[in-house]
Amino acid sequence: MAERKVRVRFAPSPTGALHIGGVRTALYNYLFARQHGGEMVFRIEDTDSNRFVPGAEEYILESFRWLGIHFDEGVSFGGDHGPYRQSERREIYKKYVDQLLEEGKAYIAFDTPEELDKKREEIPNFQYDAKTRHLMRNSLTLPKEEVQALIDGGTQYVVRFLIEPGQDVHVDDIIRGDVKINSSILDDKVLYKSADCLPTYHLANIVDDHLMEISHVIRGEEWLPSAPLHVLLYRAFGWEDTMPRFAHLPLLLKPDGKGKLSKRDGDRLGFPVFPLEWHDPKTGDVSSGYRESGYLPEAVINFLALLGWNPGTDQEILSMDDLIAQFDLTKCSKSGARFDYVKGQWFNREYILATDNEKLVPEFAKILSENGINETPERLAAVIGMMKMKKINFIHELWPLCDFFFIRPEYSMDDKFTRKNWKEGAAAEMQELVALLEGLDDFSVESQKAVVDVWTETGDKRPWNPWRVCLVGTGKGPDMYELAAFLGKEETLARMRAAIEKL
Ligand code: GLU
Repeated sequence: MAERKVRVRFAPSPTGALHIGGVRTALYNYLFARQHGGEMVFRIEDTDSNRFVPGAEEYILESFRWLGIHFDEGVSFGGDHGPYRQSERREIYKKYVDQLLEEGKAYIAFDTPEELDKKREEIPNFQYDAKTRHLMRNSLTLPKEEVQALIDGGTQYVVRFLIEPGQDVHVDDIIRGDVKINSSILDDKVLYKSADCLPTYHLANIVDDHLMEISHVIRGEEWLPSAPLHVLLYRAFGWEDTMPRFAHLPLLLKPDGKGKLSKRDGDRLGFPVFPLEWHDPKTGDVSSGYRESGYLPEAVINFLALLGWNPGTDQEILSMDDLIAQFDLTKCSKSGARFDYVKGQWFNREYILATDNEKLVPEFAKILSENGINETPERLAAVIGMMKMKKINFIHELWPLCDFFFIRPEYSMDDKFTRKNWKEGAAAEMQELVALLEGLDDFSVESQKAVVDVWTETGDKRPWNPWRVCLVGTGKGPDMYELAAFLGKEETLARMRAAIEKL
Protein backbone atom coordinates (compact mmCIF):
# COMPACT_ATOMS: atom_id res chain seq x y z
CA MET A 1 0.00 0.00 0.00
CA ALA A 2 1.32 3.42 -0.91
CA GLU A 3 2.40 5.62 2.02
CA ARG A 4 -0.46 7.79 3.02
CA LYS A 5 -0.04 11.52 2.99
CA VAL A 6 0.40 12.74 6.54
CA ARG A 7 -2.60 14.78 7.61
CA VAL A 8 -3.15 15.61 11.25
CA ARG A 9 -5.70 17.75 13.00
CA PHE A 10 -6.07 19.78 16.13
CA ALA A 11 -9.72 19.66 17.09
CA PRO A 12 -10.54 21.66 20.20
CA SER A 13 -13.98 22.14 21.65
CA PRO A 14 -14.57 25.87 22.17
CA THR A 15 -15.42 25.56 25.84
CA GLY A 16 -13.05 28.16 27.23
CA ALA A 17 -9.39 29.05 27.21
CA LEU A 18 -7.01 26.58 25.63
CA HIS A 19 -5.15 24.69 28.36
CA ILE A 20 -1.37 24.50 28.09
CA GLY A 21 -1.68 20.70 27.62
CA GLY A 22 -3.76 21.38 24.53
CA VAL A 23 -1.01 23.65 23.26
CA ARG A 24 1.49 20.82 23.66
CA THR A 25 -0.85 18.48 21.74
CA ALA A 26 -1.12 20.99 18.91
CA LEU A 27 2.64 21.48 18.91
CA TYR A 28 3.35 17.74 18.60
CA ASN A 29 0.85 17.53 15.74
CA TYR A 30 2.54 20.48 14.08
CA LEU A 31 6.06 19.05 14.46
CA PHE A 32 4.92 15.69 13.13
CA ALA A 33 3.13 17.22 10.15
CA ARG A 34 6.05 19.49 9.26
CA GLN A 35 8.69 16.80 9.43
CA HIS A 36 6.66 14.60 7.10
CA GLY A 37 5.78 17.35 4.66
CA GLY A 38 2.19 16.83 5.72
CA GLU A 39 -0.77 19.02 6.49
CA MET A 40 -2.43 20.16 9.67
CA VAL A 41 -6.13 20.90 9.97
CA PHE A 42 -7.86 23.16 12.51
CA ARG A 43 -11.30 21.77 13.30
CA ILE A 44 -13.77 23.11 15.83
CA GLU A 45 -15.69 20.42 17.70
CA ASP A 46 -18.71 22.38 18.87
CA THR A 47 -21.43 19.76 18.92
CA ASP A 48 -22.07 20.28 22.62
CA SER A 49 -23.94 23.57 22.50
CA ASN A 50 -24.33 23.68 26.29
CA ARG A 51 -20.62 24.03 26.73
CA PHE A 52 -20.04 26.59 23.98
CA VAL A 53 -18.19 29.68 25.20
CA PRO A 54 -18.14 32.77 22.98
CA GLY A 55 -14.67 34.02 22.13
CA ALA A 56 -12.97 30.67 22.73
CA GLU A 57 -12.39 29.94 19.05
CA GLU A 58 -10.79 33.32 18.42
CA TYR A 59 -8.71 32.92 21.57
CA ILE A 60 -7.36 29.58 20.37
CA LEU A 61 -6.47 30.98 16.96
CA GLU A 62 -4.74 33.98 18.52
CA SER A 63 -2.75 31.67 20.78
CA PHE A 64 -1.36 29.77 17.80
CA ARG A 65 -0.57 32.96 15.90
CA TRP A 66 1.44 34.12 18.89
CA LEU A 67 3.24 30.80 19.26
CA GLY A 68 4.04 30.40 15.57
CA ILE A 69 2.06 27.20 15.04
CA HIS A 70 0.57 27.35 11.55
CA PHE A 71 -2.34 25.45 10.10
CA ASP A 72 -2.77 24.53 6.45
CA GLU A 73 -6.49 24.08 6.49
CA GLY A 74 -9.53 24.57 8.68
CA VAL A 75 -11.68 27.15 10.41
CA SER A 76 -10.45 30.59 9.27
CA PHE A 77 -7.88 29.00 6.93
CA GLY A 78 -10.17 27.43 4.32
CA GLY A 79 -9.52 24.22 2.41
CA ASP A 80 -11.22 21.49 0.41
CA HIS A 81 -12.66 19.49 3.29
CA GLY A 82 -14.90 22.12 4.85
CA PRO A 83 -16.90 23.27 6.59
CA TYR A 84 -14.54 22.75 9.51
CA ARG A 85 -16.90 23.72 12.29
CA GLN A 86 -18.89 20.67 13.33
CA SER A 87 -22.03 22.69 14.05
CA GLU A 88 -22.07 23.47 10.31
CA ARG A 89 -21.93 19.80 9.30
CA ARG A 90 -25.29 18.54 10.60
CA GLU A 91 -26.51 17.04 7.30
CA ILE A 92 -23.26 15.16 6.84
CA TYR A 93 -23.52 13.45 10.22
CA LYS A 94 -27.21 12.69 9.80
CA LYS A 95 -26.40 10.67 6.70
CA TYR A 96 -23.90 8.50 8.57
CA VAL A 97 -26.18 8.04 11.57
CA ASP A 98 -28.93 6.86 9.21
CA GLN A 99 -26.48 4.47 7.60
CA LEU A 100 -25.71 2.81 10.94
CA LEU A 101 -29.42 2.63 11.77
CA GLU A 102 -30.27 1.03 8.43
CA GLU A 103 -27.53 -1.53 8.82
CA GLY A 104 -28.69 -2.40 12.33
CA LYS A 105 -25.43 -1.16 13.87
CA ALA A 106 -27.19 1.47 15.91
CA TYR A 107 -30.66 1.86 17.37
CA ILE A 108 -33.03 4.52 18.60
CA ALA A 109 -33.62 4.93 22.33
CA PHE A 110 -36.41 6.91 23.98
CA ASP A 111 -35.48 6.53 27.64
CA THR A 112 -35.90 9.80 29.49
CA PRO A 113 -33.29 11.01 31.99
CA GLU A 114 -35.72 10.05 34.79
CA GLU A 115 -36.12 6.53 33.42
CA LEU A 116 -32.38 6.16 33.19
CA ASP A 117 -31.94 7.38 36.77
CA LYS A 118 -34.49 4.88 37.93
CA LYS A 119 -32.65 2.03 36.24
CA ARG A 120 -29.42 3.19 37.85
CA GLU A 121 -31.10 2.89 41.22
CA GLU A 122 -32.53 -0.55 40.46
CA ILE A 123 -29.49 -2.15 38.88
CA PRO A 124 -26.08 -1.83 40.55
CA ASN A 125 -23.40 -0.45 38.16
CA PHE A 126 -26.02 0.01 35.49
CA GLN A 127 -24.70 0.55 32.02
CA TYR A 128 -26.68 0.69 28.79
CA ASP A 129 -25.29 -2.36 26.98
CA ALA A 130 -25.96 -5.91 25.78
CA LYS A 131 -27.03 -6.92 29.28
CA THR A 132 -29.58 -4.17 29.78
CA ARG A 133 -30.70 -2.82 26.43
CA HIS A 134 -33.58 -5.30 26.23
CA LEU A 135 -34.97 -3.80 29.46
CA MET A 136 -35.13 -0.31 28.02
CA ARG A 137 -37.43 1.66 25.73
CA ASN A 138 -35.76 1.50 22.37
CA SER A 139 -36.20 0.38 18.80
CA LEU A 140 -34.95 -3.08 19.75
CA THR A 141 -37.72 -3.61 22.31
CA LEU A 142 -40.65 -1.59 20.94
CA PRO A 143 -42.77 -2.54 17.92
CA LYS A 144 -41.75 -0.82 14.71
CA GLU A 145 -45.03 1.13 14.44
CA GLU A 146 -44.67 2.48 17.95
CA VAL A 147 -41.15 3.65 17.25
CA GLN A 148 -42.37 5.46 14.14
CA ALA A 149 -45.32 6.94 16.00
CA LEU A 150 -43.08 8.25 18.76
CA ILE A 151 -40.72 9.85 16.26
CA ASP A 152 -43.58 11.32 14.26
CA GLY A 153 -45.11 12.65 17.45
CA GLY A 154 -41.93 14.59 18.17
CA THR A 155 -40.69 12.50 21.12
CA GLN A 156 -37.04 13.19 21.81
CA TYR A 157 -34.70 10.30 21.21
CA VAL A 158 -31.05 9.43 20.95
CA VAL A 159 -29.26 7.05 18.65
CA ARG A 160 -27.05 4.52 20.42
CA PHE A 161 -24.23 2.46 19.00
CA LEU A 162 -24.96 -1.25 19.28
CA ILE A 163 -21.85 -2.81 20.70
CA GLU A 164 -21.43 -6.55 20.31
CA PRO A 165 -20.03 -7.89 23.55
CA GLY A 166 -17.14 -10.30 23.84
CA GLN A 167 -14.92 -9.01 21.06
CA ASP A 168 -11.31 -8.03 21.50
CA VAL A 169 -10.69 -4.48 20.39
CA HIS A 170 -7.14 -3.46 19.61
CA VAL A 171 -5.94 0.11 19.52
CA ASP A 172 -2.61 0.23 17.76
CA ASP A 173 -0.98 3.21 19.46
CA ILE A 174 2.33 4.61 18.22
CA ILE A 175 3.40 5.49 21.76
CA ARG A 176 1.69 2.78 23.80
CA GLY A 177 1.80 -0.17 21.44
CA ASP A 178 -1.12 -2.57 21.27
CA VAL A 179 -3.80 -1.50 23.73
CA LYS A 180 -6.37 -4.28 24.02
CA ILE A 181 -9.76 -4.22 25.69
CA ASN A 182 -12.86 -6.39 25.53
CA SER A 183 -15.95 -4.80 24.05
CA SER A 184 -18.09 -6.14 26.93
CA ILE A 185 -16.91 -3.33 29.15
CA LEU A 186 -18.15 -0.65 26.75
CA ASP A 187 -21.61 0.86 26.89
CA ASP A 188 -23.84 1.60 23.92
CA LYS A 189 -22.64 5.17 23.49
CA VAL A 190 -24.99 7.87 22.36
CA LEU A 191 -24.03 8.94 18.84
CA TYR A 192 -26.79 11.41 18.08
CA LYS A 193 -29.41 13.48 19.86
CA SER A 194 -32.68 14.44 18.20
CA ALA A 195 -33.05 17.37 20.60
CA ASP A 196 -30.47 19.48 18.79
CA CYS A 197 -30.12 17.40 15.60
CA LEU A 198 -26.45 17.01 16.39
CA PRO A 199 -24.17 14.03 16.79
CA THR A 200 -22.07 13.54 19.91
CA TYR A 201 -18.34 13.97 19.97
CA HIS A 202 -17.61 10.32 19.12
CA LEU A 203 -19.56 10.13 15.90
CA ALA A 204 -18.61 13.58 14.63
CA ASN A 205 -14.96 12.98 15.46
CA ILE A 206 -14.77 9.70 13.52
CA VAL A 207 -16.78 10.88 10.53
CA ASP A 208 -14.68 14.02 10.25
CA ASP A 209 -11.35 12.27 10.64
CA HIS A 210 -12.45 9.97 7.85
CA LEU A 211 -13.79 12.63 5.51
CA MET A 212 -10.88 14.96 6.19
CA GLU A 213 -8.47 12.13 5.35
CA ILE A 214 -6.70 12.31 8.68
CA SER A 215 -3.78 9.88 8.78
CA HIS A 216 -2.68 10.30 12.40
CA VAL A 217 -4.65 11.16 15.50
CA ILE A 218 -2.25 12.64 18.03
CA ARG A 219 -4.05 13.68 21.19
CA GLY A 220 -3.96 13.69 24.98
CA GLU A 221 -4.04 10.57 27.08
CA GLU A 222 -7.49 11.52 28.38
CA TRP A 223 -8.89 10.34 25.02
CA LEU A 224 -7.38 6.87 25.22
CA PRO A 225 -10.50 5.38 26.89
CA SER A 226 -12.55 6.53 23.87
CA ALA A 227 -10.20 4.97 21.35
CA PRO A 228 -11.64 1.40 21.40
CA LEU A 229 -15.07 2.84 20.69
CA HIS A 230 -13.57 4.82 17.84
CA VAL A 231 -11.98 1.68 16.42
CA LEU A 232 -15.36 -0.05 16.54
CA LEU A 233 -16.96 2.89 14.75
CA TYR A 234 -14.38 2.73 11.96
CA ARG A 235 -15.17 -0.96 11.69
CA ALA A 236 -18.93 -0.35 11.63
CA PHE A 237 -18.50 2.06 8.73
CA GLY A 238 -16.12 -0.26 6.91
CA TRP A 239 -13.30 2.28 7.10
CA GLU A 240 -10.63 0.08 8.71
CA ASP A 241 -8.28 0.52 5.76
CA THR A 242 -8.07 4.26 6.16
CA MET A 243 -8.32 4.34 9.94
CA PRO A 244 -5.83 6.90 11.27
CA ARG A 245 -2.98 5.72 13.44
CA PHE A 246 -3.32 6.77 17.05
CA ALA A 247 -0.80 8.35 19.39
CA HIS A 248 -1.98 9.21 22.89
CA LEU A 249 0.40 11.66 24.51
CA PRO A 250 1.47 11.49 28.14
CA LEU A 251 -0.42 13.53 30.70
CA LEU A 252 1.03 16.72 32.08
CA LEU A 253 1.44 16.24 35.82
CA LYS A 254 1.41 18.71 38.71
CA PRO A 255 4.76 20.37 39.48
CA ASP A 256 4.59 18.75 42.90
CA GLY A 257 2.58 15.94 44.43
CA LYS A 258 0.35 13.56 42.54
CA GLY A 259 -2.15 13.92 39.74
CA LYS A 260 -2.59 15.90 36.59
CA LEU A 261 -1.80 19.56 36.18
CA SER A 262 -4.74 21.79 36.94
CA LYS A 263 -5.48 25.48 36.84
CA ARG A 264 -5.43 25.47 40.63
CA ASP A 265 -1.75 24.41 40.58
CA GLY A 266 -1.02 27.49 38.53
CA ASP A 267 -2.92 29.73 40.92
CA ARG A 268 -1.29 28.12 43.94
CA LEU A 269 2.28 28.25 42.67
CA GLY A 270 2.03 31.35 40.51
CA PHE A 271 2.40 30.27 36.89
CA PRO A 272 -0.02 30.49 33.96
CA VAL A 273 -1.76 27.41 32.55
CA PHE A 274 -3.07 29.27 29.50
CA PRO A 275 -1.09 30.62 26.55
CA LEU A 276 -2.80 34.04 26.62
CA GLU A 277 -4.63 35.93 29.30
CA TRP A 278 -8.23 34.72 29.41
CA HIS A 279 -11.26 36.76 30.38
CA ASP A 280 -14.01 34.34 31.24
CA PRO A 281 -17.17 35.81 29.68
CA LYS A 282 -19.43 34.04 32.20
CA THR A 283 -17.72 34.71 35.50
CA GLY A 284 -15.67 37.75 34.54
CA ASP A 285 -12.60 36.04 36.02
CA VAL A 286 -9.26 36.87 34.46
CA SER A 287 -6.62 34.14 34.23
CA SER A 288 -3.01 34.91 33.46
CA GLY A 289 -1.37 33.87 30.21
CA TYR A 290 2.18 33.10 29.15
CA ARG A 291 2.19 36.01 26.73
CA GLU A 292 1.07 38.63 29.25
CA SER A 293 3.39 37.20 31.91
CA GLY A 294 6.38 38.07 29.76
CA TYR A 295 7.31 34.76 28.15
CA LEU A 296 8.78 34.70 24.69
CA PRO A 297 6.80 32.39 22.41
CA GLU A 298 9.99 30.55 21.39
CA ALA A 299 10.70 29.77 25.03
CA VAL A 300 7.21 28.41 25.59
CA ILE A 301 7.52 26.18 22.51
CA ASN A 302 10.90 24.85 23.59
CA PHE A 303 9.68 24.19 27.13
CA LEU A 304 6.48 22.41 26.04
CA ALA A 305 8.23 20.32 23.40
CA LEU A 306 10.34 18.69 26.10
CA LEU A 307 7.37 17.74 28.29
CA GLY A 308 6.95 14.16 27.14
CA TRP A 309 9.74 13.89 24.62
CA ASN A 310 13.45 14.64 24.47
CA PRO A 311 16.03 14.40 21.72
CA GLY A 312 18.06 11.78 23.58
CA THR A 313 21.04 14.12 23.85
CA ASP A 314 21.69 16.81 26.41
CA GLN A 315 20.73 19.55 23.99
CA GLU A 316 18.03 21.59 25.68
CA ILE A 317 17.78 24.71 23.58
CA LEU A 318 15.88 23.76 20.45
CA SER A 319 14.35 26.14 17.96
CA MET A 320 11.18 25.26 16.08
CA ASP A 321 13.33 24.14 13.16
CA ASP A 322 15.48 21.96 15.42
CA LEU A 323 12.34 20.44 16.87
CA ILE A 324 10.87 19.73 13.45
CA ALA A 325 14.09 17.99 12.47
CA GLN A 326 14.53 15.99 15.66
CA PHE A 327 11.05 15.29 17.04
CA ASP A 328 10.18 11.60 17.14
CA LEU A 329 6.62 10.59 17.98
CA THR A 330 7.68 7.00 18.62
CA LYS A 331 10.01 8.19 21.38
CA CYS A 332 7.40 10.03 23.42
CA SER A 333 7.10 8.75 26.94
CA LYS A 334 4.10 6.76 28.11
CA SER A 335 4.24 8.04 31.65
CA GLY A 336 3.16 11.53 32.59
CA ALA A 337 5.47 14.51 32.29
CA ARG A 338 5.92 16.67 35.36
CA PHE A 339 5.12 20.31 34.63
CA ASP A 340 8.31 21.89 35.85
CA TYR A 341 7.32 25.55 35.52
CA VAL A 342 10.62 26.70 37.06
CA LYS A 343 12.32 25.09 34.07
CA GLY A 344 9.95 27.10 31.90
CA GLN A 345 11.25 30.28 33.53
CA TRP A 346 14.80 29.12 32.89
CA PHE A 347 13.98 28.67 29.21
CA ASN A 348 12.62 32.19 29.11
CA ARG A 349 15.84 33.54 30.56
CA GLU A 350 17.91 31.63 28.01
CA TYR A 351 15.79 32.97 25.17
CA ILE A 352 15.99 36.54 26.49
CA LEU A 353 19.79 36.26 26.48
CA ALA A 354 19.75 34.91 22.93
CA THR A 355 17.25 37.43 21.55
CA ASP A 356 18.29 40.71 19.91
CA ASN A 357 17.87 43.60 22.30
CA GLU A 358 15.81 45.49 19.71
CA LYS A 359 13.21 42.73 19.75
CA LEU A 360 12.86 42.98 23.52
CA VAL A 361 12.23 46.73 23.42
CA PRO A 362 8.40 46.73 23.10
CA GLU A 363 7.98 44.61 26.22
CA PHE A 364 10.40 46.82 28.13
CA ALA A 365 8.84 50.03 26.82
CA LYS A 366 5.47 48.90 28.15
CA ILE A 367 6.83 48.54 31.69
CA LEU A 368 8.61 51.88 31.48
CA SER A 369 5.58 53.75 30.27
CA GLU A 370 3.62 52.33 33.19
CA ASN A 371 6.26 54.07 35.28
CA GLY A 372 5.90 57.29 33.35
CA ILE A 373 9.05 56.98 31.28
CA ASN A 374 9.29 57.36 27.54
CA GLU A 375 12.60 56.84 25.82
CA THR A 376 13.76 56.12 22.29
CA PRO A 377 13.92 52.47 21.23
CA GLU A 378 17.68 52.83 20.74
CA ARG A 379 18.24 53.92 24.32
CA LEU A 380 15.97 51.17 25.62
CA ALA A 381 17.83 48.56 23.60
CA ALA A 382 21.09 49.87 25.08
CA VAL A 383 19.79 49.49 28.65
CA ILE A 384 18.54 45.97 27.92
CA GLY A 385 21.94 45.13 26.52
CA MET A 386 23.69 46.34 29.68
CA MET A 387 21.26 44.66 32.05
CA LYS A 388 19.82 41.47 30.63
CA MET A 389 22.66 39.26 31.80
CA LYS A 390 21.68 40.07 35.37
CA LYS A 391 19.67 37.28 36.88
CA ILE A 392 16.33 37.93 35.23
CA ASN A 393 13.79 35.48 33.82
CA PHE A 394 11.45 38.17 32.51
CA ILE A 395 11.92 41.58 30.95
CA HIS A 396 9.62 43.17 33.52
CA GLU A 397 12.09 42.14 36.22
CA LEU A 398 14.49 44.66 34.71
CA TRP A 399 12.64 47.70 35.96
CA PRO A 400 13.63 47.60 39.67
CA LEU A 401 17.17 46.76 38.58
CA CYS A 402 17.54 49.68 36.26
CA ASP A 403 15.23 52.52 37.25
CA PHE A 404 18.32 54.71 37.87
CA PHE A 405 19.00 54.86 34.13
CA PHE A 406 15.94 57.04 33.85
CA ILE A 407 15.42 58.56 37.29
CA ARG A 408 18.02 60.57 39.20
CA PRO A 409 18.70 58.81 42.49
CA GLU A 410 17.93 60.25 45.90
CA TYR A 411 21.13 60.24 47.89
CA SER A 412 21.00 59.18 51.48
CA MET A 413 23.22 57.75 54.17
CA ASP A 414 20.31 55.45 54.98
CA ASP A 415 21.43 53.41 52.03
CA LYS A 416 23.87 50.75 53.23
CA PHE A 417 26.07 50.81 50.13
CA THR A 418 26.33 54.59 50.34
CA ARG A 419 27.17 54.53 54.02
CA LYS A 420 29.88 51.98 53.43
CA ASN A 421 31.44 53.65 50.42
CA TRP A 422 30.99 57.40 50.89
CA LYS A 423 33.83 57.91 53.34
CA GLU A 424 36.17 60.76 54.17
CA GLY A 425 37.68 62.03 50.98
CA ALA A 426 35.03 60.62 48.70
CA ALA A 427 33.60 64.05 47.93
CA ALA A 428 37.04 65.46 47.13
CA GLU A 429 37.84 62.49 44.91
CA MET A 430 34.56 62.92 43.07
CA GLN A 431 35.35 66.62 42.59
CA GLU A 432 38.55 65.61 40.89
CA LEU A 433 36.69 63.16 38.68
CA VAL A 434 34.13 65.82 37.78
CA ALA A 435 36.93 68.12 36.69
CA LEU A 436 38.47 65.35 34.64
CA LEU A 437 35.24 64.40 32.88
CA GLU A 438 34.29 68.02 32.26
CA GLY A 439 37.21 68.29 29.91
CA LEU A 440 35.92 65.53 27.64
CA ASP A 441 34.13 66.39 24.43
CA ASP A 442 33.72 62.77 23.50
CA PHE A 443 31.89 60.97 26.31
CA SER A 444 32.18 57.45 24.91
CA VAL A 445 33.40 54.54 27.05
CA GLU A 446 36.81 54.58 25.30
CA SER A 447 37.29 58.26 25.69
CA GLN A 448 36.40 58.21 29.41
CA LYS A 449 38.59 55.21 29.94
CA ALA A 450 41.60 56.90 28.37
CA VAL A 451 41.67 59.68 30.94
CA VAL A 452 40.15 58.03 33.98
CA ASP A 453 42.31 54.91 33.83
CA VAL A 454 45.46 57.02 33.80
CA TRP A 455 44.17 59.08 36.72
CA THR A 456 43.28 56.00 38.83
CA GLU A 457 46.54 54.23 38.12
CA THR A 458 48.94 57.08 38.62
CA GLY A 459 47.07 58.58 41.56
CA ASP A 460 46.24 55.19 43.11
CA LYS A 461 42.58 56.16 43.18
CA ARG A 462 39.65 53.79 43.68
CA PRO A 463 36.69 55.92 42.64
CA TRP A 464 34.38 53.10 41.54
CA ASN A 465 32.08 52.72 44.51
CA PRO A 466 31.66 56.43 45.29
CA TRP A 467 31.13 57.03 41.59
CA ARG A 468 28.46 54.35 41.64
CA VAL A 469 26.83 56.13 44.58
CA CYS A 470 26.74 59.31 42.46
CA LEU A 471 25.18 57.73 39.36
CA VAL A 472 23.04 54.99 40.89
CA GLY A 473 22.50 55.94 44.54
CA THR A 474 23.20 52.39 45.65
CA GLY A 475 25.18 49.24 44.90
CA LYS A 476 23.68 48.01 41.65
CA GLY A 477 23.96 48.62 37.94
CA PRO A 478 26.30 47.94 35.05
CA ASP A 479 29.88 48.98 34.31
CA MET A 480 30.42 52.63 35.31
CA TYR A 481 31.83 53.81 31.98
CA GLU A 482 28.91 52.28 30.13
CA LEU A 483 26.44 53.85 32.50
CA ALA A 484 28.08 57.28 32.27
CA ALA A 485 28.19 57.05 28.47
CA PHE A 486 24.50 56.20 28.43
CA LEU A 487 23.57 59.07 30.77
CA GLY A 488 25.71 61.48 28.80
CA LYS A 489 28.08 64.11 30.03
CA GLU A 490 25.54 66.57 31.29
CA GLU A 491 23.48 64.14 33.35
CA THR A 492 26.57 62.35 34.66
CA LEU A 493 28.10 65.57 35.96
CA ALA A 494 24.77 66.78 37.33
CA ARG A 495 24.36 63.58 39.33
CA MET A 496 27.90 63.77 40.64
CA ARG A 497 27.43 67.36 41.79
CA ALA A 498 24.09 66.53 43.39
CA ALA A 499 25.65 63.65 45.32
CA ILE A 500 28.60 65.74 46.50
CA GLU A 501 26.22 68.42 47.72
CA LYS A 502 23.74 66.11 49.41
CA LEU A 503 26.14 63.69 51.06
N1 GLU B 1 -12.69 17.87 20.75
C1 GLU B 1 -11.73 17.08 21.44
C2 GLU B 1 -10.96 18.00 22.39
O1 GLU B 1 -11.52 18.95 22.82
C3 GLU B 1 -10.84 16.40 20.45
C4 GLU B 1 -10.26 15.13 20.93
C5 GLU B 1 -9.54 14.45 19.79
O2 GLU B 1 -8.50 14.96 19.40
O3 GLU B 1 -10.05 13.44 19.29
O4 GLU B 1 -9.82 17.81 22.70
